Amino acid sequence: MQQTKVLKFGGSSLADAAQFRKVAAIIRAEPERRYVVASAPGKRFPEDIKVTDMLYDCFDLAARKENIDEAFAKIEARYNGIVTDLGLDMDLTPEFRKIRMAIEHHAGKDYVASRGEYLNSLILARYLGFAFIDAEAGIFFNDDGTFDDKHTYKALSALLAEADYAVVPGFYGSMPNGTIKTFSRGGSDVTGAIVARAADAVLYENWTDVSGMLMADPRLVEHPRVIEEITYRELRELAYMGATVMHEEAIFPVREACIPINIRNTNAPEDPGTMIVPNSETAPATVITGVAGRKGFSSITIEKDRMNTEVGFGRKVLSVLEDFGVSFEHIPTGIDTMSVVVATASIAGCKEALIGRIFRDANADSVTIDDNMALIAIVGRGMVSNKGTAGRVFTAIADQDINIRMIDQGSGENNIIVGVNERDYDAALQAIYREFVRED
Ligand code: ASP
Repeated sequence: MQQTKVLKFGGSSLADAAQFRKVAAIIRAEPERRYVVASAPGKRFPEDIKVTDMLYDCFDLAARKENIDEAFAKIEARYNGIVTDLGLDMDLTPEFRKIRMAIEHHAGKDYVASRGEYLNSLILARYLGFAFIDAEAGIFFNDDGTFDDKHTYKALSALLAEADYAVVPGFYGSMPNGTIKTFSRGGSDVTGAIVARAADAVLYENWTDVSGMLMADPRLVEHPRVIEEITYRELRELAYMGATVMHEEAIFPVREACIPINIRNTNAPEDPGTMIVPNSETAPATVITGVAGRKGFSSITIEKDRMNTEVGFGRKVLSVLEDFGVSFEHIPTGIDTMSVVVATASIAGCKEALIGRIFRDANADSVTIDDNMALIAIVGRGMVSNKGTAGRVFTAIADQDINIRMIDQGSGENNIIVGVNERDYDAALQAIYREFVRED
């Protein structure tokens, strides 16, 4: 049987006719590239507006009972421009009329937003000569809004089996009552992963406008290297610190089925991009796979003499946090101290009350909260087999005369987390990157 690859193209990859041509060339380059998930037209230039945002705008205008003529005409113009420039014999007028009426009659917000991918996919399917499979008929949600995997995979696999080549609009599916629901923003990535799983694909190609995931934030490090290969687990660690190339939820459907993801660049299709794989035997060239971090953490430090001998101390502290609805990030402990690192925003407005309760419930000697902490995660499967990685991280930071406020090594041994003062964040991250990536 022929192998199947599923491709998802983001909004900038399908923003105008020139981009559509690049996309078609990519798809036609390999016969295994059978199922394509499309986003709505994105930005053509930095100040441009995404069609999804234009649709939300129309929805808001209609909700305020304002006229949508001008706003809707701009959306029509975007699609008509693509159809004309591609030389397609296609008239979208009936579709526009239906959508416009629905907006004026106060159709649901998700339905309105979903029309961006719906229309773009109709055009792409026509341009490629592929079947069009509406996500409405193959992707389902439960009443509580969660994704209905069983129903979806059964229905979607059957629909895909009927078409050798097809385009599926991203971003949305159906509720049990038949109304349209979208995933959160950027959700076409999730649709791509679901289609890959339903099609039993060998690969999920996620085509965007960058040549893969970078080892560090390019706003902090000049021209960081592209990560060639990263495991799902490493990706989760870096994503937790804010380094993402994809919607976070897109990992789960393919991860369960062990389908690798390849992040590729529509504007540089010859670049190999980043492979996201279930497990990897290949050690990364740089020991670490990537480094990422975030500001905005606070450390709650609780001191108590002979804390180490008191059974249940940690539980008491954590149940106070639970009562306040605060989740914790890390808990470095000493013999007589325990620190709980939390997001500063999560304790804003309840600091004093929190201190008081911990003091009382855990019978602590002292409780203090220090803000302005940044966390940096150094992530890499190569760390397990290389001695001295932690030492190199600490020396690199110390050489910059920066004080480390917290250290935590994940038990899987593929990450080290350090906490530094926010003002030292940039310099610490840059020093770590330089330590591991030496340009030849
Ligand atoms: N068009 C939607 C958005 O802008 C979904 C997507 O592009 O993935 O969020």
